[in-house]
Amino acid sequence: MKKQEIQKIALERIKILFKEADKSFSKHPERSNRYVKLARKIAMKVNLSIPSTYKRKFCKHCYSYLKIGSNARKRIRDKKIIYYCMECKKFNRIPYKR
Ligand SMILES: [Zn+2]
Repeated sequence: MKKQEIQKIALERIKILFKEADKSFSKHPERSNRYVKLARKIAMKVNLSIPSTYKRKFCKHCYSYLKIGSNARKRIRDKKIIYYCMECKKFNRIPYKR
């Protein structure tokens, strides 16, 4: 299989994992964290960077699944989106794109 094909499959799996993480979060947040871990593992294995849409869904410090209003807060400052992780009490800064 070509590298591109492998990455495409990996991306599909990452998509599904984040979808599942979102679904489980309200009842089983620990499961959501496991899905994040799995998604990162897959991405690393095939040398793929996780799309920014998903990157903002977890904390880059403790890798907890983040849900605004539950365990995360979102602020916009200096053209950057800042996520505050209430699990590890750290900030995640993401450049703001239009
Ligand atoms: Zn965190």
